[in-house]
Amino acid sequence: RNNAEKFEFQAEVSRLMDIIINSLYSNKDIFLRELISNASDALDKIRFLALTDKEVLGEGDTAKLEIQIKLDKEKKILSIRDRGIGMTKEDLIKNLGTIAKSGTSAFVEKMQTSGDLNLIGQFGVGFYSVYLVADYVEVISKHNDDKQYVWESKADGAFAISEDTWNEPLGRGTEIRLHLRDEAGEYLEEYKLKELVKKYSEFINFPINIWASKEVDVEVPADEDESTDDETTESSEEEKEDEDTEKDEDEEAEKKPKTKKVKETTYEWELLNDVKAIWLRNPKEVTEEEYTKFYKSLAKDFGDEKPLSWSHFTAEGDVEFKAVLFVPPKAPHDLYESYYNSNKSNLKLYVRRVFISDEFDELLPKYLNFLKGLVDSDTLPLNVSREMLQQHSSLKTIKKKLIRKALDMIRKIADEDPDESNDKDKKDVENSSDDEKRGQYTKFWNEFGKSIKLGIIEDATNRNRLAKLLRFESTKSDGKLTSLDQYISRMKSGQKDIFYITGTSKEQLEKSPFLERLKKKNFEVIFFTDPVDEYLMQYLMDYEDKKFQNVSKEGLKLGKDSKVKELKESFKELTKWWKGILASDNVDDVKISNRLDNTPCVVVTSKYGWSANMERIMQSQTL
Ligand code: ADP
Ligand code: MG
Repeated sequence: RNNAEKFEFQAEVSRLMDIIINSLYSNKDIFLRELISNASDALDKIRFLALTDKEVLGEGDTAKLEIQIKLDKEKKILSIRDRGIGMTKEDLIKNLGTIAKSGTSAFVEKMQTSGDLNLIGQFGVGFYSVYLVADYVEVISKHNDDKQYVWESKADGAFAISEDTWNEPLGRGTEIRLHLRDEAGEYLEEYKLKELVKKYSEFINFPINIWASKEVDVEVPADEDESTDDETTESSEEEKEDEDTEKDEDEEAEKKPKTKKVKETTYEWELLNDVKAIWLRNPKEVTEEEYTKFYKSLAKDFGDEKPLSWSHFTAEGDVEFKAVLFVPPKAPHDLYESYYNSNKSNLKLYVRRVFISDEFDELLPKYLNFLKGLVDSDTLPLNVSREMLQQHSSLKTIKKKLIRKALDMIRKIADEDPDESNDKDKKDVENSSDDEKRGQYTKFWNEFGKSIKLGIIEDATNRNRLAKLLRFESTKSDGKLTSLDQYISRMKSGQKDIFYITGTSKEQLEKSPFLERLKKKNFEVIFFTDPVDEYLMQYLMDYEDKKFQNVSKEGLKLGKDSKVKELKESFKELTKWWKGILASDNVDDVKISNRLDNTPCVVVTSKYGWSANMERIMQSQTL
């Protein structure tokens, strides 16, 4: 084409495309749901703009917010069209080739080890999956602010953009034309596409229509011979009697010309999805399988695993909203990577069924960013900007309720996990057998435990609720995880404090002289081995009226010990002498203690100072 401008793909994008095009991955189906998901995103965007400016929708067909799928068997083209926001020339250049998102290299890296192509959508590069099935792709797009353009590429490192002067005008939106590879012929079969839409795109909130063929009976004039044949075979003896007079028959034939029915193929749009939003339905009527499917499409997580838990509820009162929250089976690749810089929550906000944003950081606190889900509010105003919405007073109430529900949902994983409850009854188990829930909390903890700890640090209001969710190993946990409640249930009579020790590993801590005496006296000590635990314990002062005591710090009380007083008296001179020798900036005091058993002496940290472990962490951070 003579008006085409050529561009090179950004290097990482080019590598990604090579991987995809050469992939032996057998599940090529995924491209369709990625395209439909992009179409749906584009429709969400124009619908949002239309809230404040109806004009943007245009008129006639252009205003229909829908997705269309068409097949051309002869030319081997599959096209997916939406009437979404469309892309300007600049959008096409940036979004489809020259700007690598943060997920691009992460995904390339992942694919080089043992990545699952199925997860491509989670990395924000789903579009390129078209090259699993096509060797040449055209993207025709019309944005309200620009002319219609065609983007095209054979995935050979370059793409071209031309002003579109030959295709039918789209009005607005995007049409993706896949020139299918020979071995991808199945995607020219209607039944296959219908099946895929059902399977992966059932919960898209816009109508998905396919240009479907239909066999219809049509009446066509019958030729003479056939009609007489029909007559003879079909007419009964009785009828024959009536027809005896030939004259009658002729007259009738003249009045009504004989016709016959034949099959003919016609085409019409066939709707493939039920657009009733799942969150508007009664939770009792939504099946586990539907929630799982909904989670997958919402989270773009098409792995084999089910979400660990979900919560679907309606909030009533001053602020009304419906919400569905999910705990994913796995933490996303970048969950803690930019924790303090990014505020992005994974909740989608809708106002009266209209998608507003998925970047609303006011909905959930940072530490719950691992949750996926959706909130649809009737209370929030529709016709204001995102910025104004962000400041709406209802958001505070919504956030508060969401946190409560989220923490309940997480606790439910533990409550339903038979491995967790040695004393609790398992009354909450619904739908699913005990075995399916077994070990789920450990799984949750391994994926998201750090988030719970960050929550304890950040969220004073819910600190106690979050502390209930804490798990750790201890001198009595037998290599398994245990909870504070379980610790308390094992406390010795007269034990006032919850004992813990911090360090780099359980193995190292088990040998610590600080534990000697406690072990001997049969006190349980919690092992905190994650660097974040040091910070955690600066915020977690007590639990259920019990104070936390770091056993390597000053102030350890192991119940009454009358001997200490005596010992203090008889070693008075020695301690004084020793203090004289050691006194410096580094040593505050020398004391008699009952915390040791075999080891003659230890260095402890003062009550308010950093523990040795904290010193180590701080040092490693400054280095
Ligand atoms: P993601 O959807 O996660 O952003 P994709 O690789 O699927 O990643 O798409 C890349 C970008 O291309 C999208 O963010 C969007 O800006 C643009 N895009 C893709 N398909 C469409 C479409 N049908 N309409 C408008 N923009 C689109
Ligand atoms: Mg996408």
